[in-house]
Amino acid sequence: MNLTVRGIGRLLTMTEPALPDAAVVVREGRVAWTGPAAKLPPDAPEQVLDVEGACVVPGFVDAHTHLVFAGVRRDEFVARLAGQPYDGGGIRTTVAATRAASVEDLAALALGRAATALSNGTTTMEIKTGYGLTPDDELRLLDVIAMVGARSPLRIEATYLGAHVVPEGRDRESYVAEVIETLPAAAARGARWCDVFCDRGVFTVDEAHRILSAARDHGLGLRLHAEEIARTGAAALAAELGCASADHLEHVSAEDARAMAAAGVVGVLLPTVTLSLRSQAWGHAAILRDAGVQLALATDCNPGTSWCESMPYAVQLACLAMGLSVDEAFRAATLGAAHSLRLDDVGHLGQGARGDLAVLTAEHEADVVAHLGGRPVLRTIVGGELVN
Ligand SMILES: [Zn+2]
Repeated sequence: MNLTVRGIGRLLTMTEPALPDAAVVVREGRVAWTGPAAKLPPDAPEQVLDVEGACVVPGFVDAHTHLVFAGVRRDEFVARLAGQPYDGGGIRTTVAATRAASVEDLAALALGRAATALSNGTTTMEIKTGYGLTPDDELRLLDVIAMVGARSPLRIEATYLGAHVVPEGRDRESYVAEVIETLPAAAARGARWCDVFCDRGVFTVDEAHRILSAARDHGLGLRLHAEEIARTGAAALAAELGCASADHLEHVSAEDARAMAAAGVVGVLLPTVTLSLRSQAWGHAAILRDAGVQLALATDCNPGTSWCESMPYAVQLACLAMGLSVDEAFRAATLGAAHSLRLDDVGHLGQGARGDLAVLTAEHEADVVAHLGGRPVLRTIVGGELVN
């Protein structure tokens, strides 16, 4: 798709300093030119979108979601509001509802959430399985993820998270073995990544090590839910294995963070989880930043601990509660998140990048952070095509 976007009051490409009075040319779905509007090439595409002074940023990359699920977790949420702590157990409630839903119903539910994400400027999204927890149910969720990728303009990265929680009534040793045995089928059904919920009461560091080592042997990239409920050594494991990302990290230590930085592990921050759990765990972003860890942001969209499809909302919380600067938060929501998925052609608007753009409702990205409860994104463009 060819498109000229003009009237850009402020353009963030993430590869160059912010540019005032700019334009973007997309040819065949890729960024062909960015620069001052006055220097727009004469042969720029005739299909024009005039954004009338708005700020334009790369489409957001949501690096961590559990988008495919059925049911709600109302009782658990209300109990948490009354003071009950989160122990990961509510995942089983969603597993029961998800197993009971048809593939078509699950796809329809996920597509509704994908539409909400798109309307909030997300153009690339990682989606995990993890609410099936039998080989057949997990592979079925990979089929649903593929359907979302085929039926939505979103670019999808699929992750196999069979090791989300040990299912009820299962012996953990045999379940870990089953997850490992399912890896080749998961890769064949479209998974590009493997993830493990490595935490207190869920999977141990040793179990995560075995699962992720086997996943690497099957050609899958590695991600890890780490140090969310308690510090268990998961972040150090992510560094040891060279995972692309370690996510959550509320209880990460400075030593863990230095190991992550040295190994190039991207730290994925999920501030909407901290808010939903009312855990007040906001300090880890500074620990990671001080150690030189590249930061990413994500929604962790799931029915229990972060019912949120909005990357601008994650950006707001990252700034207001975690203390990131506006520039750091937008970078984490675009370029950092793309790096956590090892994608080099999204999350920025350098030449040759995918023509994925979010047109903000404000003339400056800081206004989107400051304006609570407003509508942050006016238009979303994927591959040079207006999708919202
Ligand atoms: Zn998660």
